[in-house]
Amino acid sequence: MASILDDNITYLKGVGPDKANTLASELGIKTFGDLVYYFPYRYLDRTKFYTISELDAEMNYIQIKGKIIHFEVAGEKRKQRMTAVLSDGTGTIKLVWFQGIKWIADRIKLNIHYVVFGKPTEFNGALNITHPELEELAKFNEKLDYNWLAFYNTTEKMKAKYINSKAIHNMQMSLLPLLKDKLTETLPAYLIEKHKLLNLYDALYNVHLPLSQDNLQIAQFRLKFEELFYIQLKILRLKHYRTTHFGGYRFERVGDYFNRFFNEILPFELTHAQKKVLREIRIDTNTGKQMNRLLQGDVGSGKTLVALMTMLLAIDNGFQTCIMAPTEILANQHFQTISEWVIPIGLTVELLTGTTKQSKRKTLHAALQNGECKILIGTHALLEDPVQFKNLGMVVIDEQHRFGVAQRAKLWKKNVQPPHILVMTATPIPRTLAMTLYGDLDVSVIDELPPGRKPIKTLHYNDAKRLRVFGFIKEQIELGRQIYIVYPLIRESEAIDYKDLEDGLESISRAFPAPKFAISVVHGKMKPEEKDKAMDLFVRKQTQIMIATTVIEVGVNIPNASVMVIESAERFGLSQLHQLRGRVGRGADQSYCILMTGYKLTTDGKTRIKTMVETNDGFEISEVDLKLRGPGDIEGTQQSGLPIDLKIANLGRDAQILTVARQVAEDILSVDPNLGEPQNFVLRKIMEQKWKYEFNWSQIS
Ligand code: ADP
Ligand code: MG
Repeated sequence: MASILDDNITYLKGVGPDKANTLASELGIKTFGDLVYYFPYRYLDRTKFYTISELDAEMNYIQIKGKIIHFEVAGEKRKQRMTAVLSDGTGTIKLVWFQGIKWIADRIKLNIHYVVFGKPTEFNGALNITHPELEELAKFNEKLDYNWLAFYNTTEKMKAKYINSKAIHNMQMSLLPLLKDKLTETLPAYLIEKHKLLNLYDALYNVHLPLSQDNLQIAQFRLKFEELFYIQLKILRLKHYRTTHFGGYRFERVGDYFNRFFNEILPFELTHAQKKVLREIRIDTNTGKQMNRLLQGDVGSGKTLVALMTMLLAIDNGFQTCIMAPTEILANQHFQTISEWVIPIGLTVELLTGTTKQSKRKTLHAALQNGECKILIGTHALLEDPVQFKNLGMVVIDEQHRFGVAQRAKLWKKNVQPPHILVMTATPIPRTLAMTLYGDLDVSVIDELPPGRKPIKTLHYNDAKRLRVFGFIKEQIELGRQIYIVYPLIRESEAIDYKDLEDGLESISRAFPAPKFAISVVHGKMKPEEKDKAMDLFVRKQTQIMIATTVIEVGVNIPNASVMVIESAERFGLSQLHQLRGRVGRGADQSYCILMTGYKLTTDGKTRIKTMVETNDGFEISEVDLKLRGPGDIEGTQQSGLPIDLKIANLGRDAQILTVARQVAEDILSVDPNLGEPQNFVLRKIMEQKWKYEFNWSQIS
């Protein structure tokens, strides 16, 4: 059935072909529906006024009211600008225009009350507002039909065509009345009643044109709930499908490999957390259903070891196993550590990456097909078609973030029955995000570090303290320790980043001269062999300082390294800082992380640095990160393939709504797993609309 929401955006008053093209290319807005589901990112309370004396440069857009006591136009032609002085009795502030000067100058009046709207900024030590909006107070009061003004994100290209936030606001004002009584409700009536939700039209109206904060909140609740609810419904439905349609291999016994490793090789006690997780895995792999488990744990918490023991369990039961790592460096490292662990018990390990030679591949493929190769470690190369296993029973995926769900599914195809899957992630994922991203996985957490580790001390210094930091590094080197110094690498400006690193190298070489000191350098522009050589020197303690870009972020494990210096730390995201810090603190010595920054930090920058200094807890850090950045930005989640492209809900802030939505979805599916009951018909219809290409109900039911 055609819906008014499918109407082309050009049917809207004031939207011609040119505007429509820009809206489509910049924001993907083509229809009424696209527009009305384009939600504001912020609101301004139009009833709230600040006084001039309260303003500071950190404030966002604000409103003040007052009289213009003076204005003048200065400068010639293109350098022209107009300034006006606004006074409200508590102080004065300059308003500045560089464009449209004649238009403003002709209209502005002295000594009548204006409402001024804009963002205070600091210039030459004084506050001013550039290009404010002005409205006479009398007029402002006349047309107060919504009290909260919505703001919409727009792009530079849009602004150049005058499609700014205000323009979108105006479009919503003309669109919403057209939709009244024309929308089909998208949630079942019983849910709306039970959870006291606003109906769809009122929710959409109030999210764009809220009369009060209360109205706004209930409108947002309804729309956020709906968004999260459908995602949960989808995930839980898929999980149900998986658990009812696929069997899983049974690992019934603990055999020789596992026992010999445990009794003869393993040099330390497992932590309680490791034991707990191993128990969970043992139960999972003996139910006759496929295991899909996410193993979360901070860097160095011993996940790899748990993964290895799980693989030995699989091998004891006659199966092959593999580990997929996101990078070649990581795959190599797994290959080395795991080889050391298992060669003594008579197992061999094979490595397959993009650089594996063709001749080697051939023999390897054969060994996989005839079942001889029991442990395969590699990168994406594992997903290539010629790789066929005889009986793959257990797959470990390290650093899940970089592998999509689709890729996971690709591995299934390599078998008659899907293997058990253990996904390891060192980036701690907040519960809310895990529930959405990995909602179809069970979650295990290693929340304990092996004993004897001293918590890393994190310190923050600015450039003025550089000499002190160098002095400290010298002391550490004299104690026999090794040092990392990391420079940011931001893809857009690789040239600049490289320059930073080169300048840094120069000053460090001067402070730490040869032959007393030796330095390794590793960065993205080097050839792999050069990189490996530099790394190798550091690993063998031939060099004491490793200067690097973030290529060392994942992978390297050098317990003797005890200091991590992060240059321009304010340019790193929180999770990246935490990952980098995890490179030290791996040995018995006290380790340090030193965050070097400039003097001036943004508010977010300050929060990131402060969080790092105050806590070593990866979960706490990821919660802060999620709040600061929003889930869309959390590293790699875009590639996850799951529908977390949220329009209105925020996984950082809406954890409670998510919990409710998940519970409601679970309750519905437990009674009506195929959504076949009449009252749930609308759910099924919306699911089909939303995920047309992914859902095949005839197959699922
Ligand atoms: P992760 O994969 O979680 O980063 P690893 O499995 O690589 O952690 O373990 C980090 C280091 O700690 C390794 O050198 C490993 O041998 C060691 N380790 C793991 N478990 C324990 C334990 N229970 N006691 C002592 N050391 C351990
Ligand atoms: Mg690891």
